[in-house]
Amino acid sequence: SETVERHEFGAEVGRLLDLVVHALYSEREIFLRELVANAADAVDRRRFEALSDPTLMLPGDASLRVVPDKEARRLTISDTGIGMSKADLAQHLGTIARSGTLAFAKSLSESQAADKPSLIGQFGVGFYSAFMVADRVEVTSRRAGSEEAWLWASDGRGEYTLAPAERAEAGTDIVLHIKEDATEFLEPFRLQSIIRKWADHITIPITVARDGKDEPANEGTALWRKPKSEITAERYTEFYRHLGHVFDEPWATLHWRAEGQIDFTALLFIPGMKPFQAVEGERESKVRLHVRRMFITDEAELLPPWLRFVHGVVDTEDLPLNVSREMLQATPVLARIRRAVTNRVISELKTKAKDAEAYTKFYENFGSILKEGVWEDSEHRKDLAGLLRFKSSAVEGWTTLADYVARMKEGQEAIYYLAGDDAAALAQSPQLEGFRAKGVEVLLMAENIDAFWPERLDKFEEKPLRSITQGSIDLSKVAGEAAEQGEAADLSRLLPLVKDALGEDVSEVRATDRLVDSAVVLAAPEYGPDLQMQRLLKRAGR
Ligand code: ADP
Ligand code: MG
Repeated sequence: SETVERHEFGAEVGRLLDLVVHALYSEREIFLRELVANAADAVDRRRFEALSDPTLMLPGDASLRVVPDKEARRLTISDTGIGMSKADLAQHLGTIARSGTLAFAKSLSESQAADKPSLIGQFGVGFYSAFMVADRVEVTSRRAGSEEAWLWASDGRGEYTLAPAERAEAGTDIVLHIKEDATEFLEPFRLQSIIRKWADHITIPITVARDGKDEPANEGTALWRKPKSEITAERYTEFYRHLGHVFDEPWATLHWRAEGQIDFTALLFIPGMKPFQAVEGERESKVRLHVRRMFITDEAELLPPWLRFVHGVVDTEDLPLNVSREMLQATPVLARIRRAVTNRVISELKTKAKDAEAYTKFYENFGSILKEGVWEDSEHRKDLAGLLRFKSSAVEGWTTLADYVARMKEGQEAIYYLAGDDAAALAQSPQLEGFRAKGVEVLLMAENIDAFWPERLDKFEEKPLRSITQGSIDLSKVAGEAAEQGEAADLSRLLPLVKDALGEDVSEVRATDRLVDSAVVLAAPEYGPDLQMQRLLKRAGR
């Protein structure tokens, strides 16, 4: 009709559209985050403007509605926000003016800081991401305080149209005509899960229509931003379950705000149960990074791999919302946050370790993962060693390295350990005979990682760690209840005969005082892998 005006996009928009649709986002689902963020922004803005002009007040409680229509292949996102005038539509959606939001935030920061609503959605190129999933987008909007509504429409290829429209109330409807290959975005479940993932921090209720009913899709609170005193244990647990997709209770909840050099809020959980999919597979930490409440990524690796069992959120003021992947890798801010968060988790573990019984619950789930840290993280190696627990030839239950050292015999030079596959079998091993006879305690380690980390730790409280299957260990200096060792038999004629019989299977046959009841035992050479390491290497086909 005559009233439809055609406009070319600003040249930059044309290029931008191309970029967005083809290259910018690896995850198409992000379009929903952008549109929902814009809608929430618009509601915030309306609330804010209503402070000085009550006629702009929201008619009722704000809500954002997401309505998929499979038959018509249409997805509508509606809000009761500030809306856009004809000029707004042309300016904000027709050029890269975007800075509607930015300019607004700026003016805010300059004037009425106390009334600052929480503005989000200043991330990325926002609106245009709709064209990743839609081949046509129609925006019907009515500015709060105005009687007029306008329809902006475009297929994202060079031009858009503007025409008068009808809308009963102020606000905006964004209608996406979904592409053939994007049908998934018409599924209510899919939409709900995207909202939970990306927009859970938005404090305005978001609903997704399913079978004609609006179902809530977000939790609606950035829990971590609330003061601790206002959060019940149930609320923490609920959030933990939601974050980790788990059903247990957290073993520990860490919630704090760091101020000073870097500003961030962290809410972290240590699970009470080992997850069903063993955490051994993936090594990356999935702690979520938010910037001013806005979810940015769960791939910022905010914790080292050996704390990957920790779930949670870190929310900082010190990064821009449009932080890119490259920037995330380079920025010193993240490195500082990482260090602070890691140290905090370690100190929490140290504190909780004082209650041995409670700590055991944690340790039995995640102790083997902590050992990876001893292996690979020189900075935290010492702290982590103190957090390890062991089965031992001398005591029931779990023991620490410090307690072992305290029990060491006079003249005992090293912390001895025996690594193998099976804790019960280790306790019966003939390798232990000589140590038992001398009353020397041996730590028993039954996890794969145990073949690796002790060598890296090297020493604990100045005492070297030694595998008892490696080389020859001289226990003669150990004082004490050594069983009388009768006259040592002369084996000098026997040893070469045994070596002959075994041939290339062994490199050496020697006498030992390590055995009491058994006649022979395997030992590894002094330098090089111990027996358990050799078994592992063999299994790995080396
Ligand atoms: P940004 O949000 O970073 O400014 P976008 O491309 O997401 O960039 O949006 C461009 C602008 O369009 C916004 O700044 C805002 O002024 C306007 N806008 C987008 N969606 C809405 C909406 N639902 N209601 C009101 N204004 C909107
Ligand atoms: Mg936006």
